[in-house]
Amino acid sequence: MKKLALHWKILLGMLFGVVFGVIANSLGWNDWVTDWVKPFGTIFINSLKLIAVPLIIASLIKGISDLKDISKLSQMGGRTIGIYILTTVFAVSLGLLVVNVLQPGKSISEETRQQLQDTYKEDADKRIVQAAGQKEQGPLQALEDLVPSNIFAAASNNGNMLQVIFFVIFFGIGLILIPAEQAKPVKDFFDGLNEVVLKLIDLIMLAAPYGVFALLASLVVESPSADLFIALLWYAFSVLMGLGLLTFVLYPTLVKVFTGKSPKFFFNGIAPAQLLAFSTSSSAATLPVTMERVQEHLGVEEEVASFVLPIGATVNMDGTSLYQAVAAVFIAQAFNIDLSFSAQLGIIATATLASIGSAAVPGAGMVMLVIVLGQAGIPEAGLALIFAIDRPLDMCRTITNVTGDATVSMLVAKSVDKLGEPNVKDWDDNYGK
Ligand code: ASP
Repeated sequence: MKKLALHWKILLGMLFGVVFGVIANSLGWNDWVTDWVKPFGTIFINSLKLIAVPLIIASLIKGISDLKDISKLSQMGGRTIGIYILTTVFAVSLGLLVVNVLQPGKSISEETRQQLQDTYKEDADKRIVQAAGQKEQGPLQALEDLVPSNIFAAASNNGNMLQVIFFVIFFGIGLILIPAEQAKPVKDFFDGLNEVVLKLIDLIMLAAPYGVFALLASLVVESPSADLFIALLWYAFSVLMGLGLLTFVLYPTLVKVFTGKSPKFFFNGIAPAQLLAFSTSSSAATLPVTMERVQEHLGVEEEVASFVLPIGATVNMDGTSLYQAVAAVFIAQAFNIDLSFSAQLGIIATATLASIGSAAVPGAGMVMLVIVLGQAGIPEAGLALIFAIDRPLDMCRTITNVTGDATVSMLVAKSVDKLGEPNVKDWDDNYGK
């Protein structure tokens, strides 16, 4: 029997998860699902996160030492950061365009606004407190945070991914600079470690369809009632339209124009990572799968993928920045605040920075949205308006974040002549194509 492709299996897992969640909800089995199904989703996410730090260490050291000279590294670094910033600024501008044309905030009645504010005040306040900590930091704090004082402490917390990346790049530079015969045993060790980690990802992915089933079933039984969703449909539509334009128009076009690869090739390669991004709402948890798909299915060589993708997962969030722009203007519209042109330009700057500062975990974009609102003079309490529908939108914006990273990895790879043919290793044997 022909094996089903991995993305179809994951999709089926998601579908069954939602159907099961809806049935459980109607039978009042919510607690049972939370007690007996949800833990399997958490175990699945944890196993993906578990592999993230070893993966970054092994593949980035291997990748950098394969580059053999530092000028290539700085060339790649410059291009990566440059393209990341350009795509993010484009995403925010697109978000502003969509929200100004569709004006979703004008369709919210005074009564609904009040109802939403009352219902979600507490949740919104929590995010505002979380964001307050970030706001008090000095302008160079982000730079200061990049350099860890202890690599083991940094590697013990997935939130410190950038610190680990910093150390590993530094280590890789040292490895390039020492004589080749001394570097060889170190390099061989990390090459081997890298293969082991990739194999572990293969094994974890065997469980993906069951993991996403558990994640979606528990999400459905825990989601708030649907009534208030309706009031937010127009806002959700605006965010989704922007995300859709980025994911299905901008990225495949960039890939086609700069690498000549077709949209079908691109989406076939990246689909499982997109589905996981949707199910987990976390670019960090999805990273191991994004790396494997991009290398084995999109033909990006490891030197590039191992450099561009971990950095992208933490700093390049086009979906998040677009959402922050739409949400900020939506809240302003709902409160009848007219935003001047210069206030909107300010949103481009703050949403770009806020998305860079957002952690790659569920809901992080909303915490950083508080800062965008504060800068633009929009009431932070407005967060309550968008709370009900934030999780589904988070799931969707994470797809865009991950797809954006994959796109940039292809563009950078092409520009440094490191885009080859797909090199499918284990997937065919284990999962079907
Ligand atoms: N969940 C998003 C991510 O991990 C971040 C966010 O927008 O909340 O990419």
